[in-house]
Amino acid sequence: MTKNYIAGEWLAAQEASPNINPSNTNDVVGEYAHASVAETKRAIDAAYDAFPDWSRSTIQMRHDLLKAIGDEIHARKDELGCLLSREEGKTLPEGIGEVVRAGQIFQFFAGECLRMAGEKLPSVRPSVDVEITRESVGVVGLITPWNFPIAIPAWKIAPALAYGNTVVFKPAELVPGSAHALSEIIVRAGVPAGVFNLVMGRGSVVGEAMLNSSKVSAVSFTGSLPTGRKIAKTCITCEPMKKLQLEMGGKNPMVVLDDADLKLAVECAVNSAFFSTGQRCTAASRLIVTDGIHDRFVAAMQERMRGLVVDDALKAGSHVGPVVDQSQLEQDLNYIGIGLVEGAKLVAGGELLKREAPGFYLAPALLTEVNNEMRVAREEIFGPVATVIRATDYDEALELANDTPFGLSSGICTSSLKYASHFKRNADAGMVMVNLPTAGVDYHVPFGGRKGSSYGPREQGRYAQEFYTAVKTAYTFDGNGH
Ligand code: NAD
Repeated sequence: MTKNYIAGEWLAAQEASPNINPSNTNDVVGEYAHASVAETKRAIDAAYDAFPDWSRSTIQMRHDLLKAIGDEIHARKDELGCLLSREEGKTLPEGIGEVVRAGQIFQFFAGECLRMAGEKLPSVRPSVDVEITRESVGVVGLITPWNFPIAIPAWKIAPALAYGNTVVFKPAELVPGSAHALSEIIVRAGVPAGVFNLVMGRGSVVGEAMLNSSKVSAVSFTGSLPTGRKIAKTCITCEPMKKLQLEMGGKNPMVVLDDADLKLAVECAVNSAFFSTGQRCTAASRLIVTDGIHDRFVAAMQERMRGLVVDDALKAGSHVGPVVDQSQLEQDLNYIGIGLVEGAKLVAGGELLKREAPGFYLAPALLTEVNNEMRVAREEIFGPVATVIRATDYDEALELANDTPFGLSSGICTSSLKYASHFKRNADAGMVMVNLPTAGVDYHVPFGGRKGSSYGPREQGRYAQEFYTAVKTAYTFDGNGH
């Protein structure tokens, strides 16, 4: 039974519902507490009251807290990875990998808070000094999706606390167990009452109560584009306006040129499109392949996809786990159907699979004969469904890659330095991958995109301070006359 953590206390909610293991729908992972608007307001009040003291706390104290959280996450990586995989459906090695990354993020920001620095500059006027300092922002509302239930909360909570903000964390409805386990570690590490609050519940209840509160200064959201747009409208029209950071969807291209190493290109494509069951914002869902290699690439993909083991996320040897729930499964199947009606050809996968226990198993699907105007090439599917788009040459491939409402990650497989360098400069995306999967990023460098993928300052690495701190410029006249 999960509980909310509000004002330093674990509280059972009035309403609860079960959350289910997508690898085995007979397995109830736990009971998930839904907070009410009143409970959300209590959490916001607690965070608001705790802010003055926390923002003045020593950086040594914040460093020690974040380091303790990171250490504990690492010490419990197997148990947390197992819970995550059981709840969300990514395979156990991927689940443990995500947990390790979350620990690294806390440890990174433990170091970063010691470097929360400003600058001192000469003024253009005589006897005047200019100091630029960074201050904490206030109460930050953190709203997260289900697909990285430990790492995404970590990359918001760690910088929020490091830079002296207080937190109200609202995880996605599908992954309360992971959010609860992470929160327990944060609490056990000694976070002062009110500084960190966990409020689980529906977006329309808990999320909107956060957005409409005048005590919340900033909102960092990761999720879909339609929800992001809605949140942006509220945060800009509310009183006072809120600082905003949105990380949203992707329709990421991976270009494969004639001169690519075919084996490497296939590995990059399979990893990008199907690992984590394709449920990654950075998944490659448009494989843009030039004429000279197209048929060999498709044949090699079919061969490689035959070797993918789709099974229970916790089973040793599974390469791809189930889809997260029934509605996502229906969405994936629906898009495959739309693709076929639009004229695409299904050359691999796409069928439901039966396994030992009932679950949401879908064979990774490859659609060919796709053009960039089809819905399957323009809309985020968010499942193990990849499309292949044919291009005549590099120039057309680049044009197709950039012709999308999104701009998160963009990849190219080529052995040509000339094309790789040109692509790095001209890909209209926040992240570019050369001979690497479009997914899979480092934790100490900025993460984010352009167009419909991201809005506001970047997440992760040192760049995270742009969102989690407020810049102040102070002028001092010293009266010396020179
Ligand atoms: P979602 O938009 O349905 O929900 C995300 C979160 O927003 C959830 O916690 C939800 O409860 C909350 N929410 C929903 N309505 C709300 C409202 N009106 N007010 C406030 N909060 C509200 O997304 P999802 O299905 O959980 O996640 C999948 C999406 O997330 C995909 O589009 C994926 O690409 C995206 N994503 C993006 C990144 C990135 O960094 N760019 C990373 C992971 C996932």
